[in-house]
Amino acid sequence: MKKIVVATKNPGKIREMMHAFEGLAVELVPLSAFGDMPDAPENGMTFSDNAHSKAAFYMRRTHMACLADDSGLEVDALNGAPGVYSARFAGGHADDAANNEKLLAELARAGVASSRAAYRCVLTMVDTNGNTLMAAGSCPGEVRLESRGNGGFGYDPYFYIDDHRTMAELSLEEKDRLSHRGQALRKMAEQLAGYLKRSLK
Ligand code: IMP
Repeated sequence: MKKIVVATKNPGKIREMMHAFEGLAVELVPLSAFGDMPDAPENGMTFSDNAHSKAAFYMRRTHMACLADDSGLEVDALNGAPGVYSARFAGGHADDAANNEKLLAELARAGVASSRAAYRCVLTMVDTNGNTLMAAGSCPGEVRLESRGNGGFGYDPYFYIDDHRTMAELSLEEKDRLSHRGQALRKMAEQLAGYLKRSLK
């Protein structure tokens, strides 16, 4: 079994990864197994920069292969914002409600009631020999001023995947099938399978 540290303190993300990597000879080790780890800096300009720097940061501290992700929402009418700032759009300790309020205010300021948008996710694994695997996923949709649904998290109630439904109205299975993170995880699972084969040679 190859041990891979998951560079997140979010138990939900770890569960999603375990599910995606079922059947692979990997054991996912949560960051919490290493005690009080500092937060990795997240000051890159792109999702890939942030995912890579988080994975490298924890690989150096744990001396083990590390997998990290970064994700967010890009809104066309806001020139790609909030992008890498999605989690802290309304400020450092902003919650989902404050971020959504800011999203609506920015759409109103841009003079639009809706805009094309996309969720994006990048996953990166860095091992102690300097090998890097990267997988990206994106989910196109539209953000609107009107919210629908109680599921999901973050911007989901305002993110329409089609004319009728927001991401917050999907079942977990449906969200996993369509979402940026689901796609990136499936691509990463394929890459990991190849990586494990190569490292056994
Ligand atoms: P991360 O945990 O640093 O990747 O931050 C991602 C941020 O982007 C979250 O806090 C949300 O605001 C937003 N985000 C990413 N994925 C989703 C999603 O699937 N639904 C809703 N919001 C998301």
